[in-house]
Amino acid sequence: MTDVRNVIIIGSGPAGYTAALYTARASLKPLVFEGAVTAGGALMNTTEVENFPGFQDGVMGPELMDNMRAQAERFGAELVPDDIVSVDLSGEIKTVTDTAGTVHRAKTVIVTTGSQHRKLGLPNEDTLSGRGVSWCATCDGFFFKDQDIAVIGGGDTAMEEATFLSRFAKSVTIVHRRDSLRASKAMQERAFADPKIKFIWDSEVAEIHGDPKLTGLTLRNLKSGETELLPVTGLFIAIGHDPRTELFKGQLDLDAEGYLKVTAPSTRTNVTGVFAAGDVVDHTYRQAITAAGTGCSAALDAERYLATLA
Ligand code: FAD
Repeated sequence: MTDVRNVIIIGSGPAGYTAALYTARASLKPLVFEGAVTAGGALMNTTEVENFPGFQDGVMGPELMDNMRAQAERFGAELVPDDIVSVDLSGEIKTVTDTAGTVHRAKTVIVTTGSQHRKLGLPNEDTLSGRGVSWCATCDGFFFKDQDIAVIGGGDTAMEEATFLSRFAKSVTIVHRRDSLRASKAMQERAFADPKIKFIWDSEVAEIHGDPKLTGLTLRNLKSGETELLPVTGLFIAIGHDPRTELFKGQLDLDAEGYLKVTAPSTRTNVTGVFAAGDVVDHTYRQAITAAGTGCSAALDAERYLATLA
């Protein structure tokens, strides 16, 4: 049996590494499970990040995450490149189990497992990520000034991304699988009223073209089966996110969309001693800086909770 730790952190994006940095500097010796495949989180899959404060000329996503990792490690965070495959959060001492079956125990657990953006599942989608293909208009819209852009989706997020992008873009084409939108009426009206936005209905993306950068899409009409080429240099995929909360079902309260519920503005979940931060909680902002901010809050919440046990 392993020693009882003060803090175990599950997840290694900006939220996890920030929680690790703060708890390490508070001498709590956090044990951080970074994930077996994707240590560093979502920003490991992107190129330039221009909106993380402190980097006047921008910073590459993987470099930013390597720096966060090294900063947490410098103060004594113990980092393990492995997945947690099961948890028991019910008792005063929480347990988490890694892929080798080793059970780790702690007085507090901070969950920062992030969320996975849904993909179209097409060849080229990953290779052109950061080279024309994006999942975040707030993050990348600025790179697409005066360009022709496609947005895929029919919900509120797709409408929000499209209206935001129309500020920069030459044109925005919303491609939707059906002949009506799921988005709220207000969001729809705003998109319909925007002279730069047009719609292609009943259609899906059949192919993504470009090497080394995006040049266009082949669209297939789902009613007629006909295809057409849409020349674009930007593709924003807005078909939803899946929070990584499978592990916690039945133990922590989730909202209707599967995100972890916390007592805002704190990071406290419904289980005493368990805190959650970053995109696994947040379906509104989804930014590196907001994830880092709530990661800091989770560390402070855990620290204060531990002080009550002393
Ligand atoms: P994540 O970064 O998703 O990290 C979660 C981590 O937890 C992952 O490493 C995962 O493997 C790990 N994990 C999950 N389950 C387990 C488990 N069971 N055991 C162990 N580990 C686990 N934001 C910006 O502010 N600016 C940008 O320019 C920007 N660009 C982006 C570009 C792309 C392509 C994407 C996808 C996102 C971008 N974002 C950007 C958004 C930003 O990356 C996220 O908001 C942020 O990374 C969320 O941080 P997080 O710590 O909550 O989760």
